[in-house]
Amino acid sequence: MTGKSHYHIVTFGCQMNESDSERMHGIMEQLGYTAAGSIEDSDVILINTCSVRETAENKVYGLLGRLKKLKEKKPGLVIGVGGCMTQVESTAAHIKKRYPYVNLVFGTGIMHQLPDLLEQAAGNKKTMIICRPPEGVYEGLPVKREDDLKAWVPVMYGCDNFCTYCIVPHVRGRERSRLPEDIFKEVEDLTLAGCREVTLLGQNVNSYGKDFGNGYGFGDLLASLNNVQGLLRIRFMTSHPKDFSLGLIDTIEKNPKVCEHFHIPLQSGSDKILKAMNRGYNRDYYLELISGIRNRIPGAAITTDIMVGFPGEKEADFAATMDMIERVGYDAAYTFIYNKRAGTPAENMADQVPEDEKTRRIGSLIKRQNQISIEKNVEEAGRIHQILVEGPSRADVNMLSGRTRTNKLVIFPGRALKKGDLIDVKIIGGSLTHLKGEESGGNKCPCVGPIAEVQHVHT
Ligand code: SF4
Repeated sequence: MTGKSHYHIVTFGCQMNESDSERMHGIMEQLGYTAAGSIEDSDVILINTCSVRETAENKVYGLLGRLKKLKEKKPGLVIGVGGCMTQVESTAAHIKKRYPYVNLVFGTGIMHQLPDLLEQAAGNKKTMIICRPPEGVYEGLPVKREDDLKAWVPVMYGCDNFCTYCIVPHVRGRERSRLPEDIFKEVEDLTLAGCREVTLLGQNVNSYGKDFGNGYGFGDLLASLNNVQGLLRIRFMTSHPKDFSLGLIDTIEKNPKVCEHFHIPLQSGSDKILKAMNRGYNRDYYLELISGIRNRIPGAAITTDIMVGFPGEKEADFAATMDMIERVGYDAAYTFIYNKRAGTPAENMADQVPEDEKTRRIGSLIKRQNQISIEKNVEEAGRIHQILVEGPSRADVNMLSGRTRTNKLVIFPGRALKKGDLIDVKIIGGSLTHLKGEESGGNKCPCVGPIAEVQHVHT
């Protein structure tokens, strides 16, 4: 391997995987590699996999199949497969058997060893599998981020919840929180380099700090990060409803950089299914939580994840889910069809729902939720939102795009504005995917002053 080699990383799955891939990019560049223009030009290809859904796994297998020809043309090509799929022993063994030209299969907890592993795997004729249960937290890995304005910042890894359909606790291990001082330093450094918005990531951010055993929790972390000079916005995901305390709503109210967007997975509106899923809450509790947020933080956007077709889900259970989307009025929902994950309790549950029924239910759910999302966005007309400018709109380069504090995409004309500016925008219309706006008097937010100062110091 030489300093002139090229690498390519393919990422599947959630924001946590995106964030892990940013660390892989950082490691590869620190090793002297440069990003390849295309997968065909690569000397090293790393695939960061996801095992949460079957479709994501099938995409990985499809890609590995296509890479066979490239490997035949370029025998020196190093192929590494990492991420959640590889933590499942049988899957790692399957990759080795079915795709023997893969050099390295590595687990989620050993990214810090990637430089050594790549070196060893490159000289090996057989697929090397290095996976072990993820534990601990590794600090100090280099990171190369796509975006300099907004950044993912993991605050904890793993999950202790064991929802019966979910593979995550099995592949990402138990909850481990990063130390607050390490997170603060990362956010401070990001801000000094021009970042204005961070999204704190964890499978269940509301249980951040439980493993410290000293009472320090997610609310304390938010309050501390609210003090980072030059940082404008703090977002977080994902929140488990059962761990979302009213105390946290207090903290959010008191710390103005924390944005008014709450992603609170519902999964099902049926108490019977929630119990079978081992979610730890029921619909009354969930609705109370939503009222608590809405009463204290008017105008907050609420989004969710919903699954249909969990084993045992009858028409009445699905109707209960449909009822919940009416009652809550979600701004948006990520909807999924349940599919079996090897090694989870739900895999062997009786009463699996037929595929055509799952498809029918998700169709109805998406149709109604889309109507609700459009209604919510249309209702925004006439309101003024503070927008963080992200740059020219992809749909129309003559327009700008940015997001509200509630995380809605807004397209608007921008005259002399630039990426990173905060501007008040009057909303003039809304559709399923975005809002349309016009500058509200052209006023920039007063806090633009000190931000410009920070940018100046470091450019
Ligand atoms: S909270 Fe449940 S669904 Fe979310 S990662 Fe943990 S086990 Fe999976």
